[in-house]
This record gives sequence, structure tokens and C-alpha cells, in this order.
Amino acid sequence: MIMFDHVNLHLEDLMLRISQAASSCGRDAEDIKLVAVSKNCPAEAITAAYQAGQRRFGENRVQELAGKAPALPDDIEWHLIGHLQSNKAAAAIRLAKVIESVDSIKLLDRLGHLANESGVVKDILLEFNISGEDTKFGARADNAEYLVERALHLPGIRLIGMMTMAPYGADECELRKVFSGLRSLRDCMENRFGISLPDLSMGMSGDFETAIEEGATIVRIGSAIFR
Ligand SMILES: *Cc1c(COP(=O)(O)O)cnc(C)c1O
Repeated sequence: MIMFDHVNLHLEDLMLRISQAASSCGRDAEDIKLVAVSKNCPAEAITAAYQAGQRRFGENRVQELAGKAPALPDDIEWHLIGHLQSNKAAAAIRLAKVIESVDSIKLLDRLGHLANESGVVKDILLEFNISGEDTKFGARADNAEYLVERALHLPGIRLIGMMTMAPYGADECELRKVFSGLRSLRDCMENRFGISLPDLSMGMSGDFETAIEEGATIVRIGSAIFR
């Protein structure tokens, strides 16, 4: 009961902040999807968020997801948001509705091959390292054309957008640069290939309001819910 009240309160507070951030820039809060990042959280915390109505959850590691998912309701939409190794690609396809962290041709090809083999089309986001910080995963923006083109040719893959992470401790100005950088890259690829890439996954507990102002359609929030 205590766990439920706690998570419920945080979720309510968060939904309010999301809708305030959306209305402050003339956006509809309905267009922003919350991925509750449950890495390192016990199943009880996820269940508490589920009981409060949350259905989209994010995990960083395939092994952790594989350990948790079977015991949880199967209408949960799992997003894989952490670095994915090719040898875990099959499990990722099986468990995740959306793989947000695709950042290389090798991984893209592997996912495309496996998805096609099992007769599914997997929703993916391409992850970019917009800040250029070398500690982060994510492809370089100047590889975008190459990656998008390949994704469009793989029948097992449906490319629905792009994802990025801002550097830890970035100031407001740097945050805006990263988030608007991802949006511009997306716009550029939409024009280049004449396609629609609706989703921009950007913004975490400390920076989601800025990300929403810069066009995020998916925010990935952990500590503000499960702290
Ligand atoms: C942990 C994590 C988040 C959530 O971070 P919080 O600061 O806890 O909201 C979002 N995205 C990725 C890729 C993460 O690893």
C-alpha cells in the first residue's frame, strides 16, 4: 500500500508537469508518451505504477527485462532504451515493443534479419549522440543518412523516429542544443527520404520539460517516479 501511494503520487505529479510543459509551448499533452524507466526497480514498484494506469515501461538491459517481464501483465509495452549487443538482439525482439537504442548498421541488420525470420516487423528508433560526448552510446549525426536508408530497406524494421540523451549535468543552453539538434536531424531525414519519423525520444527526470519544449514525443523518466 505504501509503495502504491508513493508511486501513484509521483506519477500524478509527473503527469501534471508534463501537461504544464506541453501547454506552455502550445502542445497537446496527449502527444507525449511517458516511458516509465524501471531499471533497478523491483516488480512491486512496476506493479504499483501499472495499477496507477501506467502501461509503457523502459528497461536498459535485456537480461533485466527478461527476468521481470514474465511475472508482469502482458499488456505492458516495453521499450528497450539501453545499449544492445547483437547477441541479445533475438531476446530484445521477443520482449520489447520498441527498441529505442539502435545505433549501428551491424545491430540494425541483425535486428532486421531476426525480425524478418520470425515474421514480425519491429518498431525501432535510431539513437544519436548529438552532443558528441565520447562517453555516450549513439550513432554520429553524420551517419544518419546511411542508417536511415538501411532501416528503410529492411522489411523486419519499422523506423518510427530517433532517440538521444543529453550529457549528464548539461546546462539549459546545452540541453536545448542537443534536443533541437535531434529534431533538426529528424526533419532533415524526413525531407531527404520523403518519409515520416513521428517519434522523438528525449528527456529524462532532470530535463524533460526542456525536451518537451523542443518537440519530444516520448519522455523516458525513472527517478522522478520510482525515487
Ligand atoms: C536511466 C535512463 C533514463 C531515466 O533517467 P532518470 O534520470 O532516472 O529519469 C532515461 N533514458 C535512459 C537511456 C536511461 O538509461
